[in-house]
Amino acid sequence: MKQSMETFDVVVVGGGPAGATAAHDLAQLGRSVLLLDRAGRIKPCGGAIPPRLIKDFAIPDELLVARARSARMISPSDSRVDIPIENGFVGMVDRDQFDEWLRERAAASGAERRSGLFDRIERDADGTAIVHYHARDKHNHGDGVPTAVRARSIVGADGARSAVARQEVEGAERTKYVFAYHEIVRAPAEKPPGYDDTRCDVYYRGTLSPDFYGWVFPHGDTLSIGTGSADKGFSLRNATGSLREVAGLANTETLRREGAPIPMKPLPRWDNGRDVVLAGDAAGVVAPASGEGIYYAMAGGRLAAEAVDQLLSTGKASALKLARKRFMKDHGTVFLVLGIMQRFWYSTDKRRERFVKICEDRDVQQLTFESYMNKKLTRRSPMAHVRIFFKDMSHLLGLARV
Ligand SMILES: Cc1cc2nc3c(=O)[nH]c(=O)nc-3n(C[C@H](O)[C@H](O)[C@H](O)COP(=O)(O)OP(=O)(O)OC[C@H]3O[C@@H](n4cnc5c(N)ncnc54)[C@H](O)[C@@H]3O)c2cc1C
Repeated sequence: MKQSMETFDVVVVGGGPAGATAAHDLAQLGRSVLLLDRAGRIKPCGGAIPPRLIKDFAIPDELLVARARSARMISPSDSRVDIPIENGFVGMVDRDQFDEWLRERAAASGAERRSGLFDRIERDADGTAIVHYHARDKHNHGDGVPTAVRARSIVGADGARSAVARQEVEGAERTKYVFAYHEIVRAPAEKPPGYDDTRCDVYYRGTLSPDFYGWVFPHGDTLSIGTGSADKGFSLRNATGSLREVAGLANTETLRREGAPIPMKPLPRWDNGRDVVLAGDAAGVVAPASGEGIYYAMAGGRLAAEAVDQLLSTGKASALKLARKRFMKDHGTVFLVLGIMQRFWYSTDKRRERFVKICEDRDVQQLTFESYMNKKLTRRSPMAHVRIFFKDMSHLLGLARV
């Protein structure tokens, strides 16, 4: 049995941005990789990606279905602040094409792609992991054929509510989620007043979300219109209906309705101290306040690949810890600040009103966008940070006029 079972250096479970990136990088490093994805479902996602992602992960132009050149922040009382995206754009991708392209790139680098539903990890007599899954054909027919392969290491990139994380990593079952829902609608043939297909609209309004925001993102021929909340009693579907009314998009054709959980916080551990490491939503890495997860999933996939490569080279399980350590060094502060921001500014309409007001400030606009676009705080003007601090304080204390 043992001799006849296939063995891989790495089995990557999940072929979203995190898993496809990890599989690609590991295959490029010469490792034998199985990329397992259950396939057959388009990931519900607004599909907004920053230039840093496009650059770091060499995303070709043809995957961008739209380029947003500005963002409009809309307050509870409907005051609007337009923020131009200077020297760049926010890219929009359709996840069915984007994810498939990433998986194909991994395969072109040498990863073996298979469709299948991960079931469980067992251990061989010598302790090696055996990954059990239900192999499916590309049309996803039937329950799938029970299949098992041996794995020297495993990357768990199977998204929020990861089965790999729940089986292998302590604490994963306690993850908390925001639920996000959106509708993909056809772009209107006749544009409603104020409509701009190069602008992302972001609505801060308690009726549209008690703790997050509502969005209208352009995607070329379609739009993503949605909202999110951690409040399970809040109807995301009704709120999205209201948002469509407000945006003048109530009567456009609805192509898909879909939702999914978004993890709220990075897990305290990403590895099992042996041979499994997590990446992306499975590791809980979605930025608070913005809900941005694609870049962080890919960055996490890359770091997981580096950690696994070290484990395979040295045999030292402690190498797996590097993935979380390096990620938190790069992004931990931003996650912390965004978490505080979300808890404070997104809690009442009065605060949301102030928040949008703050966004009128050029220093705030530049700082926010540069950190979103490039994933680092700009160092060009240290005085801007000081000015923002004082402006922020005066808003927090209610000294600024709303
Ligand atoms: C409504 C909504 C809107 C969003 N909008 C944005 C946005 O505009 N910009 C942004 O940056 N982020 C956005 N996000 C977050 C973003 O979608 C995620 O953070 C990102 O997709 C995480 O990537 P991942 O690879 O970790 O997981 P996923 O993209 O969830 O990929 C997981 C993969 O694992 C596979 N899988 C799952 N279970 C199994 C199994 N048992 N066996 C085999 N395969 C399995 C799935 O098929 C999937 O391909 C949004 C999320 C939601 C829900």
